[in-house]
Amino acid sequence: MIKKELIIIGGGPSGLCAAKMAVEAGISVLLIDRSPKLGGQLIKQTHKFFGSKAQYAKTRGYDIAQILINQVKDHPLIEILNQATVVGLYDDKVVTVHYQDQYIKYQADAVIVATGASEKFLGFENNDLPGIYGAGAVQTLMNLYGVLPGQEIIMVGSGNIGLIVSYQLLQAGVKVKAIIEAAPTIGGYKVHASKMRRLGVPILTQTTVQRAIGKEHLEAVELVSLDEKWQPIAGSEKIEKVDALCISVGLSPMHQLLSMVNAKTKFISELGGFVPVIDDHHQTSVANIFACGDAVGIEEASSAMMEGYLTGLYVCDKMHKHHPEQKALTEKYEFELDMLRNGPFGIKTKIGLEKLKKGEIHAE
Ligand SMILES: Cc1cc2nc3c(=O)[nH]c(=O)nc-3n(C[C@H](O)[C@H](O)[C@H](O)COP(=O)(O)OP(=O)(O)OC[C@H]3O[C@@H](n4cnc5c(N)ncnc54)[C@H](O)[C@@H]3O)c2cc1C
Repeated sequence: MIKKELIIIGGGPSGLCAAKMAVEAGISVLLIDRSPKLGGQLIKQTHKFFGSKAQYAKTRGYDIAQILINQVKDHPLIEILNQATVVGLYDDKVVTVHYQDQYIKYQADAVIVATGASEKFLGFENNDLPGIYGAGAVQTLMNLYGVLPGQEIIMVGSGNIGLIVSYQLLQAGVKVKAIIEAAPTIGGYKVHASKMRRLGVPILTQTTVQRAIGKEHLEAVELVSLDEKWQPIAGSEKIEKVDALCISVGLSPMHQLLSMVNAKTKFISELGGFVPVIDDHHQTSVANIFACGDAVGIEEASSAMMEGYLTGLYVCDKMHKHHPEQKALTEKYEFELDMLRNGPFGIKTKIGLEKLKKGEIHAE
């Protein structure tokens, strides 16, 4: 068994920021990520981010990733393990990692779970035909590997991710035939939606996909209009010829490792589904196991960074190894996180967090 001070599972923005605080406080960190490159979701985001300058607004996602990676990668107290998947987490802080065809066991004084989120999917006939993708998969194909998912596509979901990925598809030369949305209103920012409309892409609200058509791969989809009770309206079915369908209907926090260690979870729809119950210092119900970022509720990279910095600082506090600017930075990031959640898209998160706080915490 290899002993470590702090293990961070996930090298996205939240994990990277937590690592920065910990190493600066003199804590040695093992940062584990299953991808070949650190940065999490950011590395496939080619668009410029919104928000405030403090969270790198107007900077492209992959550039933000590089800034965060550069902050930690050469620090003498960090060890980074890429292409390594954590497959086990136990309450004695033992972490089992699948790395280069071997299973390696580590034991840490504290663990931070920063595993991000997975994509939600939709149930409809033939939804397993090749050519049907999640939005994250489309971004990975296009923006990391330079591969187009198809020539003609329909996007399901008009949240920010659906709108942004639709724009990236257009930029890559794919014909986006429509963006469809089951709700009566568009979910994402108006600025993104207006841009798509100006580019001639219709956004059809109260519409869903009923069936995928094709033998070996997707050839067409059947769309249907929905009434005010979200029920299909008979006779409104319409066949659209496409060779790709992109599903962007939300993300679910990746709580599985925390469930494995029996950390208490709660289903909170405002946070994206099952999330670990955490205390004010991001500690789960299992002592010395912490969680942050999309793994504790779907938000944005900006809030994932702030949560990461804060969780790193809370861990320093718990391990009695204080960061040289422990108090000032804790106050600064708590303030910035609060400011982010005071925006129009923060209301849902705040409601979710209130519900989460009602959970019982047993960790010491
Ligand atoms: C299309 C799109 C557009 C977006 N646009 C914006 C935007 O404009 N502004 C904004 O602020 N946010 C945006 N976001 C959201 C933002 O990218 C996420 O909120 C943020 O990346 C979450 O950070 P995280 O560190 O919690 O998780 P992630 O970035 O998902 O990182 C989690 C990491 O954990 C690793 N991992 C998971 N499980 C394991 C395991 N078992 N073992 C080892 N490693 C594991 C993964 O490989 C990954 O690297 C966008 C997201 C998408 C998909």
